[in-house]
Amino acid sequence: MSSVKILKNYIDGQFVETKMTFDDINPVDGSLVAHVCEADKELVDRAVLAAKRALKGEWGSYSVTQRAKLLHNVANEIERRFDDFVTAEIADTGKAYDQVKNIDIPRGAANFRFFADLVQNQDEKIFEMTTADGCGATNQIVNKPLGVVAVISPWNLPLLLMTWKVSPALACGNTVIVKPSEETPFTATLLAEVMDKVGMPKGVFNLLHGFGPKSAGAYMIEHPEVTAITFTGESDTGKTIMKNAADGLKPVSFELGGKNAAIVFADADFDKAVAGTVRSVFSNCGQVCLCSERVYVERSIFDKFVVSLKENAEKIKIGKPEEGADMGPLISKKHREKVLSYFSLALTEGAKLVTGGKVPVFGNDCDNGSFIEPTIWTDLPEDARCVKEEIFGPVCHISPFDNEDEVIMKANNSDYGLAAAIWTSDMDKANRVSRQMEVGICWVNDWFLRDLRTPFGGVKLSGIGREGGAHSLEFYCEPLTICIKH
Ligand code: NAD
Repeated sequence: MSSVKILKNYIDGQFVETKMTFDDINPVDGSLVAHVCEADKELVDRAVLAAKRALKGEWGSYSVTQRAKLLHNVANEIERRFDDFVTAEIADTGKAYDQVKNIDIPRGAANFRFFADLVQNQDEKIFEMTTADGCGATNQIVNKPLGVVAVISPWNLPLLLMTWKVSPALACGNTVIVKPSEETPFTATLLAEVMDKVGMPKGVFNLLHGFGPKSAGAYMIEHPEVTAITFTGESDTGKTIMKNAADGLKPVSFELGGKNAAIVFADADFDKAVAGTVRSVFSNCGQVCLCSERVYVERSIFDKFVVSLKENAEKIKIGKPEEGADMGPLISKKHREKVLSYFSLALTEGAKLVTGGKVPVFGNDCDNGSFIEPTIWTDLPEDARCVKEEIFGPVCHISPFDNEDEVIMKANNSDYGLAAAIWTSDMDKANRVSRQMEVGICWVNDWFLRDLRTPFGGVKLSGIGREGGAHSLEFYCEPLTICIKH
C-alpha cells in the first residue's frame, strides 16, 4: 500500500474520494506530494446541488453576525494550523519560506476576518418618497446573496487568492463551489478541513479538484444552477469562461493577466527604485500577476540602472525553501517550457541578454525541479512579442525613455491594464503620471502594498469588475428593492 497522501474533494460536508486521480508534484525536485481525486461531472453536479440546498437550510437562516462569527472561527483555525498550511503551500509551489510565512498564509486568514467585519457594517439603505395621494412610500434596499458562486483560482498565490473570493462570497451569505488550480490543491484541501472543523453547515463550502477544459472547471462553469462565477487566472481562460457564462447571463468577476510597466524617473531615490524593481520583477519567481515585466528608465540613469538591476538579480539565491532561498522554482516543468520559449524568442527578436536566460544547474535533486534564472533583457523594440505578451516568469525588459509623454504612451501601449509602479521624488509628476495610467492599481515609490478596502482589478485584458472592500460586497450581493406604499 502506498503511503502517499490522498487529497479528496469536499462535498456536502463529506470528504469524497474518486477512482480518477492526478499527481500533485513538488516543483523543487519533481517529487510526488499527493494523489489528487479528480471530480467528474456527476460529482460537480452533486456539489452544486448541495450548495443550492444549503442556501435554504441552516446557513440561509443565519444572521450576518452568525456568519461573521463563523468566518472569524475559520481565520482562527487557519492560524492554529499555520504550520500545516505553510508546509502544504511550500510543497505545492516551492516558493520562498518567508513569503509563505509572511504573505500567503497570514493574508489567507486575514481575508476571512476582513470580510466578516466589513459585511457587518454594510449599509441597508432606506429611501422615503412622496406619492400623488400624499401618503408616501418607503423603499428599502435589502442585500441578498447571489446563490451558488463558482470560485476558480490559479496556482501563484493559492490560498491567498482563493480566500480573497471565498471570504466575501460566504460573508454575503452565498454558498460556494471552489476549484483550486490542479497545480496547487493542497492548501485548498486543508481549508476544507478547517471548514469541517469549525462546523460550517453542510453544502456551504464545497471543494472540487480537477483541471479546466473537459474537467471540473468546465463542468462548474457550464452548470445551469451556478448563479455567478468569480475567476482569477489567464485572460484566455477568462474569455472561455465568459462565453459559457453568456448563455445564462451570469455575473462574472475576473482578475486576469498583466504585462505591467515600472517607470523609473531620474529624480527617483535610485537605491529604493532598484530594490523595489528587484522585488516587482522577481518576487515569487516572477509569478505574481502584478509583477513588472516592462521596465522603463529615464535615459540619464539608464546604464547605471541596468548594471545595478543586473548585480542585484545575480545576488538572488535560488534553491530550496528550507535552505533559505530567496527564489524558488517556476510552478511546473510545463510552465518552464513556456518561459524558456520566450527566452529563445527574445534572442530572435533582437534582445540583448543582460543576465540569466538559462536553467541553473545545482548538482542535486533541484535539477529535477523547474528552476530558472532571473533574466533581464534590453534592446527589444516595443512591438516585440516579449514586450507585448505576459510571460509570468522572473524576467523583464528594460528600455530607456526621454520624456513623460513618451513613457506614458509606452506604458499604456498594452493589451493589458492591471498594475503600474512609478518611481520618482517629484510628487506633482507622480500625480500627473499615475492618473494617466490605464490600469487598476498604480503604485508610487512602492509595489504590492494592498489595503483590502480599496478596489482591485484590471482594465482591458486584465479583468472585469473590481473586488476589495465594498466592491466585493457589491459583486457577491443581489440588492432587492422593497417599495412599501403607506
Ligand atoms: P489559468 O487560467 O490557466 O488557470 C486558472 C484556473 O482556471 C485553474 O484552476 C484552472 O484549472 C482553471 N481553468 C483553466 N481552463 C479552464 C476552463 N476552460 N474552464 C474553467 N476553468 C478553467 O491560470 P494559471 O496559469 O493558473 O494562473 C496564472 C494566470 O493568472 C496569469 O495570467 C496571471 O496573470 C493570472 N493572475 C491574475 C491575478 C489578478 O489578480 N489579476 C492574480 C493571479 C494570477
